[in-house]
Amino acid sequence: MRLAVIGIGPGDARYLTAEALEALRGSEVVAGYPLYLELIADIIRGKVLLQTPMRRETERCRMALDAASAGRTTALVCSGDAGVYGMAGLVYELAPQYPDVEIVVIPGITAALGGAALLGAPLGHDFAVISLSDLLTPWETIRSRLVSAAQGGFVICLYNPSSKKRRDYAARACRILLDHLREETVCAVVRNAGRVGETVRVTTLARLKDEETDMFTTLFIGNSSTKVINGKMVTPRGYGGYGGA
Ligand code: SAH
Repeated sequence: MRLAVIGIGPGDARYLTAEALEALRGSEVVAGYPLYLELIADIIRGKVLLQTPMRRETERCRMALDAASAGRTTALVCSGDAGVYGMAGLVYELAPQYPDVEIVVIPGITAALGGAALLGAPLGHDFAVISLSDLLTPWETIRSRLVSAAQGGFVICLYNPSSKKRRDYAARACRILLDHLREETVCAVVRNAGRVGETVRVTTLARLKDEETDMFTTLFIGNSSTKVINGKMVTPRGYGGYGGA
């Protein structure tokens, strides 16, 4: 039977693609982290829900694969895109143990893109996405990616900037970036994009380390051409010599 691994976008059901909506409607069983199931509650009412808490990702994927293997059309939901720090990779790693399950991945709007649209056009040129979570990646690897992205002139999106156990990580990353980028580099903080409590702030790299961040926040660090135009964060691509790089 089929398991659809679905990215639901950054916020509530408005951010679903038509394909994701169709797949959810066509599923008997929906698995996911409780908060995400809540965001799409109206669509999945009456379906069998399989919920597991944070950090129980392998168990969640197995439950979904088991349900599909038992003959029930199943959806496994992730926030944003299912392949960006999501479950899609883990499902494929487990898939050889479930040869009868057909897996499809349905793309969603990742936090970087949802947040970028709120900010203006910060990702108009090359950009890098880096997660500050060192649960699965050693901090030294994260540090060297931050340095490489800064040296390469990429706009940088930071996912998982901090959590209760990693309170100072965003500030640590800012200090590393300040060794390579100007203090006045345009930066932004997007929290709860598309959800209740959505906030957007544009600031500078010097000030970014003092911003409140949590696990629902994405940080944006501009490149040397990123500017603020009418309050919006814009990274020019350079069309027509209107001042961009
Ligand atoms: N698969 C998700 C990312 C999961 S990692 C995606 O593609 O978006 C979790 C991180 O994503 C959070 O720590 C935060 O940095 C970012 N994020 C997810 N949803 C967000 C939202 N609504 N607003 C701001 N950042 C968000």
